[in-house]
Order: sequence, then structure tokens, then C-alpha cells
Amino acid sequence: MERYSRQILFGPIGNEGQEKIKKSSALIVGMGALGTVIANHLTRAGIGHLRIVDRDFVEMSNLQRQMLFTENDAKELVPKAIAAKRVLETYNSQVEIAAHVTHVSANNMASLMEDMDIVFDGTDNFSTRYLINDSCYKKNIPFSYGGVVRSRGMTALFNPNTTSCLRCLFNEQQSTGETCDTVGVISPIVDIVASIQVTEGLKYLTENMDAIRPILRTFDIWNNDSYDIKLPKKKTDCPVCMHKSYPALDQPNTTFEQSLCGRNSVQILSPDTYDLTNMEKRLQHLGDVQRTPFLLKVNISSSITFVLFSNGRVLVQGTDDLVEARSIFDRYIGS
Ligand SMILES: [Zn+2]
Repeated sequence: MERYSRQILFGPIGNEGQEKIKKSSALIVGMGALGTVIANHLTRAGIGHLRIVDRDFVEMSNLQRQMLFTENDAKELVPKAIAAKRVLETYNSQVEIAAHVTHVSANNMASLMEDMDIVFDGTDNFSTRYLINDSCYKKNIPFSYGGVVRSRGMTALFNPNTTSCLRCLFNEQQSTGETCDTVGVISPIVDIVASIQVTEGLKYLTENMDAIRPILRTFDIWNNDSYDIKLPKKKTDCPVCMHKSYPALDQPNTTFEQSLCGRNSVQILSPDTYDLTNMEKRLQHLGDVQRTPFLLKVNISSSITFVLFSNGRVLVQGTDDLVEARSIFDRYIGS
């Protein structure tokens, strides 16, 4: 308990709160900028179980703001969830950490959420956020929402028992399309938003419910603005809050491709799994091949690169054209 002495001295947590944190389990969806800061705080705070999930591997452009990663992780193409788990375990070996390298979808969200007390949103896109929203409201557990772009950020704790949901706050069509990959982001706003996400989460886990406010907090730390918006009442036409219907969970389980906004990449999700050793033999004549325990990267031309993950996910880098990506996939990999 020496380790947590300063946190225990903090009145609203105390010994009892520390025990509650230790008995808690949290899922973090996304191990990028927000996710790494959230994971760092929760691990050091002594959460019992942490489940982290991310589909990407570490790249040099991540290091400016994704606090758990090193240049070596980027050189070795280490999946973010694995790289994060390795370093988090050196911060606190008492925390049980499970790392999942996978794309989060309607197919696996329920199993990822099993036995979790709370979910932290570390994603960078609204389709995954709606999936988190719908899954959490269906299972009746809260999620700590955060979003950052440029020098702006926003965060709120959505709790099915006490607040309306993300769909009541935002219109699904309302997104500006601005992402960190298209308009950039500075790292301090990441720390601020992620730290508030964790603070609200700790209030919930230690049952300090009076300290929680049903508000959306927003900041622009470059332009010196900040304001709070009261979360709206549950909307009468909200499918989740009013009709117990969960649109994000009704996605088909088939091969599909999607453009990764601002990254000049297309992601193809196949229900097949790949034997990376066989695929390496099959594809090595095409160009430079880099193989790690988790993925296979093949440069098939100066502009097009494939990245294959054994669980059936393929990234086609160098195009954002879905048809072109699918035709390259069918030609070289097939299904
Ligand atoms: Zn709602």
C-alpha cells in the first residue's frame, strides 16, 4: 500500500476507495494518444484488471503524443497493444493486463466488454464511438468519452443509469470530418482530456457519485476557450435510450473494406485468418518483406504496401480508393 499512499491520503479515495480501484476492471478501446495516457494513469492508480485493444502498430508519427511508445517500437512495427502492455507492466506489476491486437467491431465488442466495470474511449473515429455507446448502454455500464483534434478537446462520462447517451448529444451525420490525421493535434490537449476521462472514471469506480457532473467539457487550449455543456435529456427519438435498439451492433459479419480517413490507407477485414509464415513464402517474390511475430509487411511497389495481420485484417497503404484496394487484395491475397 506504500505505493498508493499519496492517493490514499486523498480524502475522497482513502483506503476504501483504493480497495475499490483494485477490485475494478476497465476496458480501453484504442491505444493511441488518449489510450496511452489513460492506461498510464489507471495502471499507476492500481486498477485490478486492464484490458487494452488496438488494431495498429507503432509508427514514427505516433511518438509526438502517444506516451508509452519508443523509437524501437516503431522500427520493429510492434502492435500498440503489445508495446503498451510491455511498458505498463514495468510501471505496476500488480495490475493484470490483457492486450488484444484486433479491430473492434460488433462481432467482438461484447466479449471484450465481458466482466468490465467501465469502458474508456481512446478511439479516433465516431463509428467506433457509436459502437462503444451502443454496447455500453445495452450492458448498462458507463463509458468515459474523449476526443481531441488540433488544440481542442471534449470529454464526458456517459452513464446509462444517469445520463442520456452520445446519440442524444451528437447527430451521427454531424461530424466535421476533421481528424488528427488531416488537421493535426498537439500533445498537451491529449493529456488534459485523457486525464479528465480517468478522473471521472475514478470517481465512478470509487463511488464518489456526488463529484460527477452530467456535463460535456470542452477546451481549446491554444485559443484559451473552455466551456461546459449540460448533457441533454434523453431524446424521444433516440434508438438507444428510448427504444432499446442498438444500430451499431447490427453490422454484418462479412469481408468489408473501409477507408482510414486521412491516412491514405484502406482497411480490409476478412473473416479468414492468415498463417503469416505461409503468406511470407507466397508474397516474398513481390517485393521487400518485413515479418514480425504479429504482422507481415510487403512493399509491392514504390507506392503500395500491404500489411497483413494473422487475424484476417489487411491494410493497403498508398491508396484511399476502396475499389483499387479491394482489387489489389483480391489479386495478391484473395479470400
Ligand atoms: Zn440516447
